[in-house]
Amino acid sequence: MERGRFAPSPSGRMHLGNLMTALLAWLDVRHVGGTMVLRMEDLDPERCREEYAVQLARDLQWLGLDWDEGYERGGPHEPYRQSERSGIYRQHLEKLEMQGLIYPCWCTRAQRLAASAPHPGEQRGDGACPCRSLTAAEREARLQTGERPPSLRAAVPAEEIVFVDGHCGPYREALARDCGDFLVRRSDGVCAYQLAVTVDDALMGITRVVRGRDLLSSTPRQIWLHRELGYEPPRYFHTPLLLAEDGRRLSKREKDLDLGALRQRFTPEELIGRLAFLVGLLDQPAPVSAGELIKEFSWEKIPKQDIVLPKEMF
Ligand code: GLU
Repeated sequence: MERGRFAPSPSGRMHLGNLMTALLAWLDVRHVGGTMVLRMEDLDPERCREEYAVQLARDLQWLGLDWDEGYERGGPHEPYRQSERSGIYRQHLEKLEMQGLIYPCWCTRAQRLAASAPHPGEQRGDGACPCRSLTAAEREARLQTGERPPSLRAAVPAEEIVFVDGHCGPYREALARDCGDFLVRRSDGVCAYQLAVTVDDALMGITRVVRGRDLLSSTPRQIWLHRELGYEPPRYFHTPLLLAEDGRRLSKREKDLDLGALRQRFTPEELIGRLAFLVGLLDQPAPVSAGELIKEFSWEKIPKQDIVLPKEMF
């Protein structure tokens, strides 16, 4: 049985870009007769709020994008809020630690940036942080000094990860060169996105991940984590992004394109019809329900390039 998911971060009201991702994730899983899971990625306590999560669920229901399992519905893989899964992440961090794949890092953001920006004419480094080469005794000594708590980083190998995205095609990345040792736990103890999303997709049995192309370059790190943790990675499908007319990515700042404003101007069918037209699923921006698009859905119809939003349409 195929299992897909929508995994929004409840840090504000959904906007048109999130809605397009949600629609494509929903159509993809409904088209193959699979199960849809809704997971709230509310890891960041400063940005995420329960009221946004509730609003997100109401907006999805209003649009007719239902889910079979997850937030508010429950299911066999509870809890479906990342903020309630820290014990699960801790167990996985312990496993990575036993494999010697993570290390504590005391660098500040500014130090990391300075280390990764090469001087003119120099090659980028191998992505490792100076903290990676500390001896066990040096680490212990630093842990004892009571300076600010370290973050945890994955020690990535000099290896190229190659995979075929279900929509974008082949993609490759040399972990050490292109991304370097990445964060798996912040210094305040909050699990980092890359680890949480990998663990959750694995434990929730997700077989198809549909999400915005801004996350394409995160995928090699996640595939590597799946492998090191002994899991089978899902298939990935990265969707085009919606851009404003000046080429910027749409963001939560565009208040007139958030669901609060859109719900005042359109019916769900009008909104879905316009989006379906933009992504090549309809010839005309005519009203349609999400359910009516399931049969005709195909990744071949979806553009590969990002989509510039004709402002007059919304
Ligand atoms: N929570 C992420 C976001 O809202 C998406 C994560 C994912 O789909 O892998 O941007």
